[in-house]
Amino acid sequence: MSQSDEYVVVGAGITGLYTAYCLINDAKVSPRKISVIAQYMPGDQSIHYTSPWAGGNFSCITPDDPDTLEFDKYTYTNLKQLQAKIGGPKKGIDHNPTTEYWDIYPGEKKVDSLKSYLTDLIIIPKFQLPKGVAFGIKYTTWDFFCPFYLANIKEYLETSGVRFIKKKLTHIAQAYLPRTKVVFNCTGIGAFSISGVKDSKVYPTRGQVLVVHAPHIHENRMRWGEDYATYIIPRPHSHDQLILGGFLQKDNWTGDTSGEESRDIIKRTTELMPEILDRPLEILAVAAGLRPSRHGGVRIESEHVEGKLLIHNYGASGYGYQAGFGMGHRAVQLMLKEQQLYCKL
Ligand SMILES: Cc1cc2nc3c(=O)[nH]c(=O)nc-3n(C[C@H](O)[C@H](O)[C@H](O)COP(=O)(O)OP(=O)(O)OC[C@H]3O[C@@H](n4cnc5c(N)ncnc54)[C@H](O)[C@@H]3O)c2cc1C
Repeated sequence: MSQSDEYVVVGAGITGLYTAYCLINDAKVSPRKISVIAQYMPGDQSIHYTSPWAGGNFSCITPDDPDTLEFDKYTYTNLKQLQAKIGGPKKGIDHNPTTEYWDIYPGEKKVDSLKSYLTDLIIIPKFQLPKGVAFGIKYTTWDFFCPFYLANIKEYLETSGVRFIKKKLTHIAQAYLPRTKVVFNCTGIGAFSISGVKDSKVYPTRGQVLVVHAPHIHENRMRWGEDYATYIIPRPHSHDQLILGGFLQKDNWTGDTSGEESRDIIKRTTELMPEILDRPLEILAVAAGLRPSRHGGVRIESEHVEGKLLIHNYGASGYGYQAGFGMGHRAVQLMLKEQQLYCKL
């Protein structure tokens, strides 16, 4: 009998893939004991699969609760080793410079945390800030070419021995295969509807982005307002693709894209970075995605299903790439703690 069902990760978005990676890397679980089960896999497209639609970079929009600050810091400072394992920057994860502007000061807790780990951090003097901006920083960030990065993490895991099973589950208990000891629930927005979880605190925060061809732009620029987000993100090793965004629409479940929203994104991003228009704007794609948000924040918790361990790890909202590695690490630490407790009983 195959051993690959001892540890099951439900979900092949960035949260599930980071979690499978942490099982191998942190808990030293043999990849041959791990299965990833998911309805959608890297390469698939669906409004119920958020990860391919992300911007995606590391930015400072995340909340300032202690857990999120820790997840961000862990991810930012540990991605280097994951990048090396999957084959280096050409696998769709690389460093680039970024500038971030806030209309409202993000607060001491956030700023002190950022100061403790961001590389090349500069706080922009007030007199250099654009009109209406209360606070600004420059630093070296991580950029992700999301669909490609996902595919490359999957390839790395698969080559190491992890089994991928494409299947929709109607109940989380269906994840327990014959020899399964632990299931990780990394279902993202699916946590709202899958039986056995049906978390009513989960809700979508819809976004829309444009993918444009821009060989002349090699840096990020972001502006955060009270009710808007404008961002420009170069996709590393993507043949010069640039992401322009975006929107933060709570409780909007639509996967449709809107021409009016695209025009608004172009207006805001070209005001923020006029040099985008140094070349004619060449739009390659327009996409919408549903960030898996959750009232009360990320859920990393354990419970038992028919005497077996279930670890929840979902609710990454707009920060699965930039905080998800830290979330995966925490979820795997929780598993190790629970297993230790069980051994003592
Ligand atoms: C426009 C936009 C911009 C973004 N920009 C950024 C950014 O710059 N930086 C950043 O860090 N984050 C960004 N995000 C957020 C990021 O995309 C999400 O946090 C992340 O993708 C969530 O990943 P996930 O793995 O939790 O969920 P998903 O990617 O949705 O994966 C869920 C997985 O669970 C599976 N699943 C669900 N239900 C079931 C079921 N019943 N049976 C079987 N399988 C199931 C799905 O098939 C899928 O494989 C952005 C998001 C959007 C929409």
